[in-house]
Amino acid sequence: MLANVLRPGAIGTLTLPHRVIMGAMHLNLEVTGDRGAALAAFYAERARAGAALIVTGGIAVSPAGAGGPGYAVLGDSTDEAALSAAVRAVHGHGALIALQLFHAGRYALPGRSDGPPLAPSPVHSRFSRSTPRELTGDEIDATVRDFASGARTARELGFDAVEVMGSEGYLVNQFTAPLTNRRDDGWGGDSERRRRFPVAVTRAVRAAVGPGFPVLFRMSGADLVEGGTPAEDLDPLAVALAGAGADALAVGVGWHESPVPTVQAQVAPGAWAGAAVNVKRALREAGRGALPVIASHRFNRLAQAEKVLAGGEVDFVAMARPFLADPEIVAKSASGRAEAVNLCVACNQACVDRSFGTQRVSCLVNPRAGHEREFPTGPAAGTGRTGKRPARYAVLGAGIAGLEAARALAALGGHVEVYEATAEPGGQFRMAAQAPGKADFAATIRHHVRELRERGAVLHLGHRVVPADIPALSGLDGVVLATGVLPARPVLRGAALPHVLGYHEAFADPWALGPRVAVLGGGGIAVDLAHLLVTGRDPRPAPVSAPAPERQARPRRAAAREVTLLRRGRRIGEGIGPSTRWVVMGELRAAGVRMLTGVTYREITPGGVVLADSGGERLVPADHVVLAVGQRPVADLLGPLRAAGVPCAVAGGAAGTQGLDAVRATAEGLRAAHRL
Ligand code: SF4
Repeated sequence: MLANVLRPGAIGTLTLPHRVIMGAMHLNLEVTGDRGAALAAFYAERARAGAALIVTGGIAVSPAGAGGPGYAVLGDSTDEAALSAAVRAVHGHGALIALQLFHAGRYALPGRSDGPPLAPSPVHSRFSRSTPRELTGDEIDATVRDFASGARTARELGFDAVEVMGSEGYLVNQFTAPLTNRRDDGWGGDSERRRRFPVAVTRAVRAAVGPGFPVLFRMSGADLVEGGTPAEDLDPLAVALAGAGADALAVGVGWHESPVPTVQAQVAPGAWAGAAVNVKRALREAGRGALPVIASHRFNRLAQAEKVLAGGEVDFVAMARPFLADPEIVAKSASGRAEAVNLCVACNQACVDRSFGTQRVSCLVNPRAGHEREFPTGPAAGTGRTGKRPARYAVLGAGIAGLEAARALAALGGHVEVYEATAEPGGQFRMAAQAPGKADFAATIRHHVRELRERGAVLHLGHRVVPADIPALSGLDGVVLATGVLPARPVLRGAALPHVLGYHEAFADPWALGPRVAVLGGGGIAVDLAHLLVTGRDPRPAPVSAPAPERQARPRRAAAREVTLLRRGRRIGEGIGPSTRWVVMGELRAAGVRMLTGVTYREITPGGVVLADSGGERLVPADHVVLAVGQRPVADLLGPLRAAGVPCAVAGGAAGTQGLDAVRATAEGLRAAHRL
């Protein structure tokens, strides 16, 4: 039941049909030279599917405030035309859109401005790898005016509201933190002067747009950096913002330099809702409890939002990534089909990690995100080369690439049969689902399988297609070859010993591994396995010889394991996205995983792995040795398929292992479907 989520609510003069806001996310669609077509298509799809109020990604109030080359800047007529297109698209579906007024401050990256980043004080940033120039008093006044004129422009462009970005360590937030505001003038020196800038911005924005135009302020509920905004400053800040004219306070947490995870898969959903609850309490105590407060961070199911809203301590929940993963999250959940939602798995691989660069943001579990115009949906495209409906396709392999290809073909109106050699769908994605924090990967597999069944696709499990089957496929309109990869077997003495396993065998029964495990390799799969072995939970009941409390048929802690990752290269976890790698590596270190890099494997013996490194040659003792030193594509059927004249597209690992990850795999699955 989503009684609280589905209650109408108001922010200023806006009435919203439900309590979920599509939160801001920079997309790298804002400045693409297409007059806003891709941006408009992205937002239109979400507006059509039930997002009531969409907040844009940060739109810079000046070139100096741009977060990088992909940021739109107010005052630039081309950028404003793109924003107008987005407004029209959203309004066309009856939804509302707010523009986020943004200034990156010391987080600014070059691209839209020639000058150095600007900030309250010249404090180096690890995130932007630069030291900003200190703003003069006149420049601060001018920046306040930039926010005001940006708000006015937003209203003129047709936006329904503005949100001032005052959290996540950007300029406004930099003023409230002693770490980055070391001034001793009217803009810094004590708590009251440090909050003068956010309050001045809010007042100026309110004055610029007039009393009836909704102004949201996204404040930080916890900076999570040493020297961040003191906790005791937050209540007076919230109250002052209310007094300055904000119509709602959205509450973010964490800076990009924070050592505390906030949005990674390892963070429990809704874990940061308490920051918003605190803000609401402060407002209530100040007699301003009617002001709506918006919680955010790491919600991926509406049921979690319902739980927070049911307490009555916050008024709305903002979600950003879940709308990338499934534009219909609200509509499906509201109609009692929550299990049909394609859940955001908090991998950050195609969204957050890309948003810090210039690559277009998309989504691992929904690669259409950000590419809505390239990949239209609908049965019209399902005609196929025969000119008859439905076109008939086979997908060989039900890993994540094959599932995505099959899903897309079925969505295009094709009749799809999927052949998977193993007994279960999911391939390597299913292995990853066992790693701590990745349980939702299994939900993705369930979702895709469910969609296939709903669309009439047939899934043949335990059915390996062999060359002799190809004549039967030759009448089809197309085949997607998504047969994945197999672990590479290194040429190494001892690699065939009985205690040596491929990573896929280790994942098949990780709890059967002995107390000392050496993993050859240090990529994402090796890291997932190590993470699972040292912090995961053994789902099997304890053996009957165990003491009585241990015999409960419930998960127990994994037996303490000594895990060593042995990598020839210099970096463990290469390929894991930057926003996630540090969290996982921290957990591995905390759990005592040994990581040896720059090693040469000499041989595997019954006692472990003999290696050489700068310390000489030595034995790393191990009861089991797991090989995760690379993969080889499985594409043996490609030649026979082509020889038989079957229209064929290849996706995922079968297409090659260079740069292979799940994001590439799903994107190729989608592309393959549309190519046929
Ligand atoms: Fe969520 Fe990953 Fe998709 Fe980003 S890429 S929206 S984190 S599933």
